[in-house]
Amino acid sequence: MSMIEDFEQQAEAFHQELYREYYLAEAGLKEQLSITPIYERYALLFGADVVRELLTLTNDRRGRYLAEWVTLEYLENLVKGVTEDISNAMRQATVEWEGQHVPYHNLRPMISNEPDMSRRHRLDELEREITASENTRREQRFRSLHDEARGLGFDNYLALCDQLRGLNLVSLTEQMRILLDETRDVFFRRLERFLNSIEVPTERAGTPDVLYLFRGRTFDALFPKEAMIPALTTTLAGMGIDLTQQDNLELDIEPRPLKSPRAFCVPIRIPEEVKLVIKPIGGPADYASLLHEAGHAEHFSNVDPGMPFPFKRLGDNSLTEAYAFLFHYLPLNHHWLQRILGVEDGGAYIKLARFQRLWLLRRYSSKLLYELELHTELEEAEQRYVSLLGDALGVAIGAENYLADVDDAFYCAQYLRGWIFEAQLRRFLENRFGAEWFSSSEAGEYLISLWRQGQQFRPEELAISMGYDGLHSKYLAEELASM
Ligand SMILES: [Zn+2]
Repeated sequence: MSMIEDFEQQAEAFHQELYREYYLAEAGLKEQLSITPIYERYALLFGADVVRELLTLTNDRRGRYLAEWVTLEYLENLVKGVTEDISNAMRQATVEWEGQHVPYHNLRPMISNEPDMSRRHRLDELEREITASENTRREQRFRSLHDEARGLGFDNYLALCDQLRGLNLVSLTEQMRILLDETRDVFFRRLERFLNSIEVPTERAGTPDVLYLFRGRTFDALFPKEAMIPALTTTLAGMGIDLTQQDNLELDIEPRPLKSPRAFCVPIRIPEEVKLVIKPIGGPADYASLLHEAGHAEHFSNVDPGMPFPFKRLGDNSLTEAYAFLFHYLPLNHHWLQRILGVEDGGAYIKLARFQRLWLLRRYSSKLLYELELHTELEEAEQRYVSLLGDALGVAIGAENYLADVDDAFYCAQYLRGWIFEAQLRRFLENRFGAEWFSSSEAGEYLISLWRQGQQFRPEELAISMGYDGLHSKYLAEELASM
């Protein structure tokens, strides 16, 4: 067996143990998450010498995907202690609110559900104070990642992520600047109107008001809890996919006290053992999150079992995010609302949901501009965070979040690439199978043919196979600007 094949087998075994542990803890089948022993058992995978060796094998795709994965795991492993300290501090933190101790993690849902503006702002202030208390450690953590990236021979952390992940950051940044320009007018017009609808003066608006707006409580009745699972199975059946016959995909809807309230998908063994876990509560956000995770689950459970691990699981996560977004945004299609949920007049909901998507795209685009600066120069980061996001979003941005609001390794770029590819894929499906593509078994067959390939190919290559010039944000920008 070659060194690469041996390494792949070990990597797959590690992945399996790690994801089984996540599943057991998050699904409420186990009291505590314990991943350190798993990392310790597989410590040989993440040695500096292994990383250096794999980094020399990047001239073929399989080696490149492995090198990307092991390098990022190696970096995470080095800062794991700090990561755990921060997350434990946040888990234990509480604030005083009206004579009660409220856990830090409950503040966000409270803000989303708080109709009174000044109370929302006070809750947000309390949240930001706690967030800020760990910023010194967050900064130290980023400094370590930056140093280690240079230690591995890269110019900086940004170059490491860009080169290993194939993010095309120069081109992506250029495209996102254009998207920000082209959607600016429509965004600010809508923002003012939506803020008015919840009685928030634009000049006093902040991110907590936007959280409340997007909670969309008035639309809860359109998305009942009891109809959630039937909505999913009917949608899949329309594409010729019988969820009850997918033995490798387990839908876990059993209520357990320790089960995570958010839907999630865990691909433990691909494609043999994929879990889709949900604790249904209903409402637009819960539907979106079930559909999103179902997109991941269908992708991973349809992967060709004969492929090597790097093509089944590694590669570009923009792809699995695009498949998740494709399902996630089904409720923005009035044909879907009508056919699946029997909603005749979903216009007001669709307007809000489309505005939310525009908000997210502008938020992630400005986050990309910010993270490019953050990962080259930490000194001015706090002010740059406030000004770049504030300029794109038109509401007050809490400076304290400038480090907590950053995912490692430019995951923001993978989301953006996922959104861009989803718009291209959906346009392709609509052109070929009609506006109700989601009820065409031919569309289902086409999607399965893509899912089978795992993440072997990049969105750029798949876009070309659909007749596009490559991955391009103009379709997405056009859609967003024409709201
Ligand atoms: Zn996702």
